[in-house]
Amino acid sequence: MRDHVPPSERPLLATHTTPSAQDRPSQAGAAAAMDLTEASAAGAAPGASDVDADLDVIIIGGGPAGSACALTLARQGRRVLVLEKAAFPRFHLGESLLPYGTTVLRRLGVLDAVAASDAVVKRGAEFCSTDPSHFRRVDFVSRDAERADYAFQVERAQFDALLLEQAARAGAQVIQQARVTDLILAADGRVRGVVYVAHADQAPQRVTARWIVDASGRAGVIAQRFQLRQANPRLRMVALFRHYTGCDERANPGVQGDIQVGYHADGWVWAIPIHETVLSVGVVTARDALPAQNPMTGADQVFAEHVGRIPRIAQRLPAAPPPPVRMETDFCYGCQQAWGPGFLLVGDAACFADPVFSAGVFLGLATGERAGQTIHDLLDDQEATASRSVARVQAQMEREAAALRAYDRFLKTGFDTYFRIIYGFYAAGCDFRQYLKWRLGRVADANYWITRTLAGDFWTAENPITTDLRSERAWDTLAPYDPLYGCPVYGDAPRSME
Ligand SMILES: Cc1cc2nc3c(=O)[nH]c(=O)nc-3n(C[C@H](O)[C@H](O)[C@H](O)COP(=O)(O)OP(=O)(O)OC[C@H]3O[C@@H](n4cnc5c(N)ncnc54)[C@H](O)[C@@H]3O)c2cc1C
Repeated sequence: MRDHVPPSERPLLATHTTPSAQDRPSQAGAAAAMDLTEASAAGAAPGASDVDADLDVIIIGGGPAGSACALTLARQGRRVLVLEKAAFPRFHLGESLLPYGTTVLRRLGVLDAVAASDAVVKRGAEFCSTDPSHFRRVDFVSRDAERADYAFQVERAQFDALLLEQAARAGAQVIQQARVTDLILAADGRVRGVVYVAHADQAPQRVTARWIVDASGRAGVIAQRFQLRQANPRLRMVALFRHYTGCDERANPGVQGDIQVGYHADGWVWAIPIHETVLSVGVVTARDALPAQNPMTGADQVFAEHVGRIPRIAQRLPAAPPPPVRMETDFCYGCQQAWGPGFLLVGDAACFADPVFSAGVFLGLATGERAGQTIHDLLDDQEATASRSVARVQAQMEREAAALRAYDRFLKTGFDTYFRIIYGFYAAGCDFRQYLKWRLGRVADANYWITRTLAGDFWTAENPITTDLRSERAWDTLAPYDPLYGCPVYGDAPRSME
């Protein structure tokens, strides 16, 4: 495998420090929050001296979505503070990335660092079944210059730490072990800041900024506070998983580095090589496959039984006793709205779907980047408008509302398309070729479109598969919304499909 990234010249702040942005010039103008009456949403009243009015953006959470947002903003000179509850590196699920995410990583300026880490190169996905002779591979081969033909399998603890470190190197202030506990609202209801508790001292700190981004993943600090989420009743799933060590990726019965996704009547099983010798294996099934009370009591048995159904995965497991099974449950939800006054939601903080096509990190990166760019542009606009006439300020506020609605449409287009790919795939018996026959008849260039769909093609109007999926009213999840494309890889330019 590859060399590790050289140690950072400027290590992440591993423990709490009160943020200080004095050493970087702000691009923000005078439109700061200080003229607003600040009120803590849940009545916490830490000292006003903790308030830092110089920040442009506070990002709650330092996962991939938060880091992508921080990188986008910090690289353009914005003053960004990332508050991360955990001490990195910390365990996280979500180890298989998509080729469209490779392009976003490149644009964020971190692709070389990821490639130089222990990440395993992923060139395709194998879809296998209970019959070892029945399997298919989707090769991410690309004939387009824009699209990478590979992605990575990563140990998330390392990957997330690397992205956060890159954000800090780009100029973002990062405070780990800093848990956001509350929001600071202005008198008009706009979210102006957060209250957080740092591991080191436990005293609540207040900090304000012009924009707040909720990148707190499933915790959904702002999303939950404003009840913006709805559970997805179609996808009530549970995942059981463990990491097997002492494996040998050269014994992969398919192509080394690929993810394997094995289907059976009651769900599916993943096998993801996150290092040459470490295999992440997980079982996803209906939540009610486990006892309602104390679900862990049935976990070992269900895990072993489901993995045993997929011979091409079961044959890879080492004989040594495995580590304990772990569980994640009830992880599928959508959001009504991905913004509100003073804030945006990104990544899992907004929505999450069944991880069968490994899109979570890509969706987090793409929405994090887009949210960062939206906020940067809005700050530019605010600064250009500051101290001008009331009419101009009014017009700027209207542009702001339009930009936030556009971001909302972009986020929903990505997540909704992903939800629909999952529904369509299950409805077609887990076979995209069947889906095409059933829904569309003969599709010119079917392999090309299937590959693009599985590589992350969620933001285009030109893909016949996703266009058809979006037309199926029975699969409405986040609707009604008006799709907004702006593909993170191909952009919006119409392409000739020779
Ligand atoms: C079973 C399963 C399998 C999956 N497999 C894949 C896969 O193969 N590929 C893939 O791409 N995705 C997969 N995912 C999805 C993936 O894990 C997520 O989509 C991805 O991590 C989203 O990134 P994020 O940055 O939005 O959130 P996260 O990565 O969850 O980051 C959120 C961060 O916010 C921090 N935080 C939370 N609350 C607070 C607070 N109050 N204050 C401060 N910080 C806070 C957390 O500590 C965390 O670091 C899977 C998910 C599940 C459940």
